[in-house]
Amino acid sequence: MMRRKTNQRAAIQEVFRDNDRPLSVEEVLQAGRKAVETLNQATVYRNLKMLTEEGWLKKINTPELGVLYEVAGKKHHHHFQCRSCDRVYEVEGCAFADDRRSLCGLPPGFVAESHEIFLFGICASCRLSA
Ligand SMILES: [Zn+2]
Ligand SMILES: [Zn+2]
Repeated sequence: MMRRKTNQRAAIQEVFRDNDRPLSVEEVLQAGRKAVETLNQATVYRNLKMLTEEGWLKKINTPELGVLYEVAGKKHHHHFQCRSCDRVYEVEGCAFADDRRSLCGLPPGFVAESHEIFLFGICASCRLSA
């Protein structure tokens, strides 16, 4: 029993390392099943919850796809959602500084402390296969 738990958890962590982008429960389930056939939605949920509580994963609330999970502790980045395959990618680089009042025309007296940016479009692999 103990061993099976460990395998499930390791398989889920491996899925995140392999993909290197935010994943939905369903994506984790599909990819994780290749390593651990017995994986089901309940065990995926439980492991994602545990990994999030331990700070290994973090939840992202996406505008269109609900909650996704990504590996925590990464450098600030933005997200890109492909409208064709619904994959969400991490995008590096940021032109905004949070403390600057000019960020999106903040009114006088406002101070921004953080921001999240979601881009929408078509990813490279979808464009190539179109
Ligand atoms: Zn795509
Ligand atoms: Zn940014």
